[in-house]
Amino acid sequence: MTKLVSKWNYPTTVRFGAGRIKELADALAEAGIKRPLFVTDPGLAKLPVAASTLKILDTAKVPYGVFSDVKPNPVESNLAAGISAFRKGKYDGVIAFGGGSALDLGKLIAFQAGQTRPVWDFEDIGDWWTRANPDAIAPIIAIPTTAGTGSEVGRAGVITHEASHTKKVIFHPKMLPAIVIADPQLTTGMPPFITAGTGMDALAHCLEAYCAPGYHPMADGIAVEGIRLVFENLPRAFANGKDLTARAHMMSAAAMGAAAFQKGLGAIHSLSHPIGALYDTHHGMTNAVFMPYVLSFNREAIEDKIARLSAYCGIKGGFDGFVRAVVKLRRDLKVPHTLPGLIKGLEMDKKRKSLIADMAVVDPTAGGNPVKLTKKAALMLLDSAIEGKLAGES
Ligand code: NAD
Repeated sequence: MTKLVSKWNYPTTVRFGAGRIKELADALAEAGIKRPLFVTDPGLAKLPVAASTLKILDTAKVPYGVFSDVKPNPVESNLAAGISAFRKGKYDGVIAFGGGSALDLGKLIAFQAGQTRPVWDFEDIGDWWTRANPDAIAPIIAIPTTAGTGSEVGRAGVITHEASHTKKVIFHPKMLPAIVIADPQLTTGMPPFITAGTGMDALAHCLEAYCAPGYHPMADGIAVEGIRLVFENLPRAFANGKDLTARAHMMSAAAMGAAAFQKGLGAIHSLSHPIGALYDTHHGMTNAVFMPYVLSFNREAIEDKIARLSAYCGIKGGFDGFVRAVVKLRRDLKVPHTLPGLIKGLEMDKKRKSLIADMAVVDPTAGGNPVKLTKKAALMLLDSAIEGKLAGES
């Protein structure tokens, strides 16, 4: 019997809607930011979507700086350079503008610029976050330009520890952006590969949160509606990037995934994190590859829940029907069915597989998987994703 005791955290102020980016100067004033550092990635920095946003700041005569040295899957040297730019320019807040990579790095710059301990001391382990000086954390405005990670409503940033090739989650409640501007118009230029990968990330967040054990009916409710939104809108956004209604629903689903995953994540993420850290693959796309294998592996623990979810989403055939729907969605979005399909020329010997399985079982998300993720299970899932065979398939 699940113990009916839990801790619930819900997101921040979200100004949601197409065209609301024009409220940026007003949002800065509300957050008390007079001199922001605009953090984005180098690809986005060159696109009209960034230029038109900066123009809003110019028109409002807001003094600002731009920092765009952000890798996809950001690393410590990106953070060090960002902190140096923040301190040098004497900025008093951050506008984090972009996909999960730029949002996370922007949040981490605002968090870490005023701290004296190394960032790794604030990893999301126990109460390590209490080591930080909360008064030194600068306010953040988050503006997502992808619809996947939900980092805009999250209290953590992900950064790769290069020496150990591990993605670390840095957590502090004050890393939650003061204001989010969720303007789906900003996502209309996303190319199909990124639309698919980020959208599948939102689905992975909702699905793993829903399947995680523990008592959190609010997270469960949010996750279920998020999953419905993805099934109904991701294929539309993929087929026509300018479909603002589909883009808007995907932006909601992304934020809903991050709100829901405070309940927990699972083995999709435990396996995807080491693969992302070792092969620099897109996070959401990697989650998408692992999704049906992990679902099938967890069957025994989640079959009833998935049947309820399928009924709500109008997916026929109970658990098997749901897995078929996931596989079809992936196919329609041109998501590779196997890891070698994702990573060209992939060759994994026994030692490499063993390393990935070791990393997966100690990943902080592993504890949320409804079936215990042992090393044997992680190795089996890795083989399934390499060979393209679901549990029970010969
Ligand atoms: P991303 O931020 O790495 O961006 C991917 C690419 O899309 C980049 O080249 C970028 O320039 C481009 N792009 C972004 N917006 C665009 C637009 N509107 N038009 C055209 N191109 C655009 O991808 P992502 O999937 O959003 O984020 C992945 C990162 O987020 C990973 O580092 C992952 O670890 C992290 N993450 C964080 C959380 C969290 O809770 N903080 C959750 C999941 C993932």
